[in-house]
Amino acid sequence: MKFQTHKMTVSIDEHSSHLEQFKEFYKQLDDEGKTIEVLPHQKIEDYQLKAVNATLAHVWNRNEYYRSTLEEAGFTEPKIDSLEQLASVPMLKKDVIRGDKQKILCVDPKEIGQVHLTSGTSGKPIYTSYTLADQYVYDLLPKYLELFKESDDDVAAIALPYEFALPGLGFQRLFQFAFGTAVLSLGKGGYMAPIDKSLELMKEFQATVLTTTPSYAALLAEESEKCGIKIGEDIPLKKIWLTGEGCSSTFRERLEKWWGCEVSFFYGSTECGVVGVECSKHNGYHVMEGHVKVEIVDPVSEEVLPYGRTGEIVVTTLLREGMPMVRYRTGDLGNLQKSKCDCGITMDVIQLRGRMEHMLRLGTEDYSPFLIEHFLMEIPEVGLWYHLKLDQGVLTIEAEKFRTKLSDEQLAAKIQEHMADRIGIHCEVVIRHDIPRTFGKATRVFN
Ligand SMILES: [Zn+2]
Repeated sequence: MKFQTHKMTVSIDEHSSHLEQFKEFYKQLDDEGKTIEVLPHQKIEDYQLKAVNATLAHVWNRNEYYRSTLEEAGFTEPKIDSLEQLASVPMLKKDVIRGDKQKILCVDPKEIGQVHLTSGTSGKPIYTSYTLADQYVYDLLPKYLELFKESDDDVAAIALPYEFALPGLGFQRLFQFAFGTAVLSLGKGGYMAPIDKSLELMKEFQATVLTTTPSYAALLAEESEKCGIKIGEDIPLKKIWLTGEGCSSTFRERLEKWWGCEVSFFYGSTECGVVGVECSKHNGYHVMEGHVKVEIVDPVSEEVLPYGRTGEIVVTTLLREGMPMVRYRTGDLGNLQKSKCDCGITMDVIQLRGRMEHMLRLGTEDYSPFLIEHFLMEIPEVGLWYHLKLDQGVLTIEAEKFRTKLSDEQLAAKIQEHMADRIGIHCEVVIRHDIPRTFGKATRVFN
């Protein structure tokens, strides 16, 4: 068996940080031949409490905004006695940090090594600043050898944006520094990397791993047929990691069939980094509990919800010195479960329900677009490009045909019947042949 190398050890000159103490914790795990993934959950929680307290002390000492909100909430010292008490720490809203590069910065600006920003689909961007030690030392401390099987035998194609946001460069570092993997930096839609060239490069170097978005994985598959490249044969992928956009499990399975390899989800954000990763059982995302503490809160009352209840995902980063996120409201919906996963990983499991603003109100209920997609993708004659349009309570599905002899009318009727059967709602269906492909985030919901 090939092992991940974790061979790059970066030392940052004369560096001292509140995170140095955790090197020992992870070294001990290494020495015992274990990873945090399989520890008894109580041990993970003990580590998390220590890490949360180290972060609270760091932000209290280094940042005025964090300190004043903690003091206003009644804290006289930056310390909690249990993870449940994290609920008494004020939450961080996007609006507070939008467009403000200093607000929660916890280091001298000259210590910043990298700035990332959100794509800013709505208003001003959110800037996230990292120190070099954040990126090359602390972020790589936790190893997840059960979740990631990549090694220096692999060649990883990264088809994610390298500009502004975290994904491209984040995966680049992970593959190179943790896994020792050769990387093909395809980017996504940059003028240097048209799709046919990207596919040719993957063929030339026999890529074994692809990291991209669900819609771009579909687009690459589609385009391969046009340039005569047989995916599965010419490009012998073992694994696709999907990130950036959520999608349903049926969409994922359609990609597995098309590419002929396992496809798994990776949930993270530019602000928080990695949050959850899907294991081989595909029963949700294991929370990356070495990197983050996740809570689920009621978006209205802001109360912390117990296991099983769906609410807003709130993230506290554990291994950041530049710009730690403390109880950051992500705007994503999901619920948490204790892991009972057959894979043996003990880290909690999160089910994603999509973004709050994308929920579709049909009748008296809110539906996750992933659920609608899930039902739509159950119909094999429907392609992977579609739109959901909601207008005055009426859902119109625009869909394309996929490798079928059905007429437009026949397919439309089939979709209508299937959706009525699955969600009990009548929807309008339009079969299109021209749904635009995109290099950016696929827009599928028009609400
Ligand atoms: Zn699992």
